[in-house]
Amino acid sequence: MKRQFKKIILCSLFFLMLTNFSSNQTYTKGLLMGKSKDILPLLKGTNYKLQTNAYDALQKMINAAFQKGVKIDVVSAYRSFDHQNRLWKTKYDKFRSRGYSVKAAVSKVIEYTAIPGTSRHHWGTEVDLRDYSKRNTKYLESNSKSKYQNWMQDNAHKYGFYLAYTNNKFRKGYNYESWHYSYREISKPMLNTYLKLDINKMLKNENIAGNIVFTKNFMNKYVEEHVLGINDYLY
Ligand SMILES: [Zn+2]
Repeated sequence: MKRQFKKIILCSLFFLMLTNFSSNQTYTKGLLMGKSKDILPLLKGTNYKLQTNAYDALQKMINAAFQKGVKIDVVSAYRSFDHQNRLWKTKYDKFRSRGYSVKAAVSKVIEYTAIPGTSRHHWGTEVDLRDYSKRNTKYLESNSKSKYQNWMQDNAHKYGFYLAYTNNKFRKGYNYESWHYSYREISKPMLNTYLKLDINKMLKNENIAGNIVFTKNFMNKYVEEHVLGINDYLY
């Protein structure tokens, strides 16, 4: 009797451990597209926000780099749908004012900027980083042979960060972004959940400049090339 009791206790403990380890955070459609305040309790930070584990890992990386004389500047981290929509509209309007057609303007914007609702920055796992000495310039790109870039190439992965838009010439979608890092441990499961959504349908009723060109074909290609045009290691 006593033995059986012990067995039951052990079994229940094992079950509890199992469910704890396998219980992933569930990400709702609204959260994944930057539209839900549900993400706020998951975020940490004041000047910029990231999900807690990503935030802590970034602080460790910034400190380790500093010890080696490399200063990291954080340019952008979590962005909501509305924030992304403001960035989108500013860029879209700029190209339209230069005489680009709606279609051509959208094509230009998506060279570097995600359609609101499809940005990885909505997830609180992505961060744009640059050499601190460049903080007063508008440029994110750093010299590929700089001390900063060398340190990042050798060390970012040790803290869980990977470039999302690499310079692999076979990659499609966004141009190479030497500044955009993803915290893989969280972004990978989020991407898997995100890909189960009907992105085309999600954006249908959103007020996004130029959305007249977001046809089904356009969106399918966009998902294939932009959403999936990432570092192989991130999915
Ligand atoms: Zn970015």
